[in-house]
Amino acid sequence: MAESQAALNVINVVKSYGATRALNGINLRVDPGEFVILLGPNGAGKSTLFQLLTGLFVADEGQIIVDGHDLAVNSVPALGGLGIVFQTPTLDPELSINANLRFHTDLHGVPAKVAQRRIDEELERIGLGGKSKQAVRTLSGGNKRRVELARALLHEPKILLMDEPTVGLDHRSRQDILESVEVLRRDRNLAVLWATHLVDEAKTANRVVILHHGNILNDGPIDTLIEQQGVENLSEAFLKLTDPDKEEVA
Ligand code: ADP
Repeated sequence: MAESQAALNVINVVKSYGATRALNGINLRVDPGEFVILLGPNGAGKSTLFQLLTGLFVADEGQIIVDGHDLAVNSVPALGGLGIVFQTPTLDPELSINANLRFHTDLHGVPAKVAQRRIDEELERIGLGGKSKQAVRTLSGGNKRRVELARALLHEPKILLMDEPTVGLDHRSRQDILESVEVLRRDRNLAVLWATHLVDEAKTANRVVILHHGNILNDGPIDTLIEQQGVENLSEAFLKLTDPDKEEVA
């Protein structure tokens, strides 16, 4: 087979909550080394998609394939292919940085020696090399996010899922996380799916996928989108596509 394997393939995924159709037959493929921004206003369906991708809920219809493994059939290798940074911090503030990271590698069955080597390397990379014994609560918000990103990499996933990862961070820390993820994509050929409602976070991406009312309204390079919509920039294109007065187009 000449075609390389997708890091993530979402095929015809539907999810409803009672009468609300949160995802209306979503198709989304992310290849190794691609940085895809999932951009959608509040209520678009981003969290629902991430909850399905991370196995928290099951789709009503469709398939989710991670690195060739169907999440519904082979959940362990499929989930092992995902590195996840959640919207709300999930580190234990009272434990040391190292203990938090070891907890993660144990959960993923990474052998102790390999785990410690990777933890040391990742902490070195993010500039916290000498601080592994420090309690997480002593870190700044930006450093906590960096540790969460480092943690997501320890079991060597194929795709990073970033669920609105800059919520609550200042401008500098937001830029910093975006840049680190871009470097990881480039250097490790990682796939990245980054959900956000903030247009300015989309500028780093190779592709922007616009989700609105559970439908994908656009999937392609930013330049193409701007040209197709006949506007000046991504903000205008996004507003034009998600304009509440244009419901009938969706
Ligand atoms: P986003 O993350 O883009 O803000 P969500 O996935 O949270 O969007 O929501 C998509 C739609 O599903 C919205 O209409 C929302 O009100 C609805 N929804 C989300 N979670 C639930 C739930 N647990 N019960 C009922 N409706 C929900």
